[in-house]
Amino acid sequence: MGWEDFGQKIADAGKDVSDKVKKVADLVCLKQKLASEERKLQTAYMEIGKLYYEKHEGEIDEEYIPLFEDVAAAAAAAADYKEQISKARNQVQCPCCGAYQSADSAFCNKCGASLKSDDDVEDM
Ligand SMILES: [Zn+2]
Repeated sequence: MGWEDFGQKIADAGKDVSDKVKKVADLVCLKQKLASEERKLQTAYMEIGKLYYEKHEGEIDEEYIPLFEDVAAAAAAAADYKEQISKARNQVQCPCCGAYQSADSAFCNKCGASLKSDDDVEDM
């Protein structure tokens, strides 16, 4: 085997490796594209479900009832956790729009409503 053949072999091996790398890269890319589409599907399903829930609350087919109960229970639990988190962070909930913010701010930074309670106003 001459040096030229040897060089050609190395070049071929290098080509094999770069083909493999390209295939792996393609696969990674495909997997990312798949994951991205799957996320879009999840989001779309979620939006469909949310829309259906909002439109049909109280007038639903029986098969949906357990799911609606799950939503109501999860929403209540989520609201409870939000409140606990805001208390832990020393935040208050805006009485107007429901946004949470620092307990020492005087006005809601989302809707501008006064965050002072009626008691505070009477003290002033
Ligand atoms: Zn507000």
